[in-house]
Amino acid sequence: MKILMIGPQGSGKSTQAKLLAQFLQVPKISTGDIFRKLSKENGEEARSVKDILGQGKLVDDETTAEIVKKRLQQSDTQNGFIFDGYPRNINQVKLFDPGFDKVIYLKTPKEELIRRLVSRSRADDTFEAINTRLDLYFTQTEPLLDYYRQKSSLVEVDGMGDINQIQDEIKKFI
Ligand code: AMP
Repeated sequence: MKILMIGPQGSGKSTQAKLLAQFLQVPKISTGDIFRKLSKENGEEARSVKDILGQGKLVDDETTAEIVKKRLQQSDTQNGFIFDGYPRNINQVKLFDPGFDKVIYLKTPKEELIRRLVSRSRADDTFEAINTRLDLYFTQTEPLLDYYRQKSSLVEVDGMGDINQIQDEIKKFI
């Protein structure tokens, strides 16, 4: 099964994507993880990605779509995959569409997102970067919800509550 976990940062989508990937025995593909790894390498591209990540901005759509396309050529994706972080906007899905069977939206109130985000510590989590990423999510990524709703592949899951309970909710749709 090809699944996309969608939601703002702090919604718990990475945690839920990881649990679901373990359950379904398929890889979790996170463009954020791919870019964080890339940013630690040497060279011009790595430096540029590091800057973008640090500011909470998005890597350009063409580069991102190309990286995702390449990742899907690996043999571990044959039985499906869980995506976390791609697509981030309509243009990306037009450039390369992984063809999701289900899109799981983790709906979480904004106050809860902020509360969770200030209590986690990741190298690229400065206050400014968090704000930029949330803004980008609401302006660029949220329109994807309607896009997938129209394709009837969107399901909504309440992002509030216990991690395992949320995972059980998600499994009901699988
Ligand atoms: P994430 O772990 O999903 O929060 O992603 C961390 C950072 O990686 C983001 O703030 C972006 O700079 C970059 N990134 C991840 N996914 C994408 C994407 N689909 N398009 C562009 N940039 C991305």
